[in-house]
Amino acid sequence: MYVIDTSAVFLRKIPENSVTVPEVVDEIIDEESKLYFQISNVRVECSQPEYVLRIKRVAKETGDVHRLSNTDVKVLAKALELKEKGFEVSIVTDDYSIQNVAKVIGVGIESIIQKGISKAFKWVKVCKGCGRKVEGDVCPVCGSEVVLRRVRSEKARRSRSKSKKAKRKGFDDWRDS
Ligand SMILES: [Zn+2]
Repeated sequence: MYVIDTSAVFLRKIPENSVTVPEVVDEIIDEESKLYFQISNVRVECSQPEYVLRIKRVAKETGDVHRLSNTDVKVLAKALELKEKGFEVSIVTDDYSIQNVAKVIGVGIESIIQKGISKAFKWVKVCKGCGRKVEGDVCPVCGSEVVLRRVRSEKARRSRSKSKKAKRKGFDDWRDS
């Protein structure tokens, strides 16, 4: 059995026998992903408060508590609950903090994308209104809706700004001549 996080939906990598939590469903906002989610027959179940508490306790110990979103905690709580009910369960995720806590609670991990690609891209929550990176579901600055966006990681961004600089240099050269 698999517990999926939101990136499994965006990357079209939902395995059979998948379960998720309502918080993940709330993050699926584009129509194509919604459709993909619907045809994938994922079971949606709420996380139980006792397991949420236990995950938070573990995450505090591992130092992941501030890196985990509310949704991440709920996904982990669902995995812990299924494991204790006797299911063999893995979490489908590329989030390092989820993976870290999953290891501690003895839950398996299925990485979604190959290492090279997961290094180049990561998911962040971004405000639809002002574009800030935010933690919650609503922007604390402008109150707009928050969406999940795939962004270039540090490494990829660095090489990108280098090429930007090169372009600018080209422009300056042109202007000088
Ligand atoms: Zn905002």
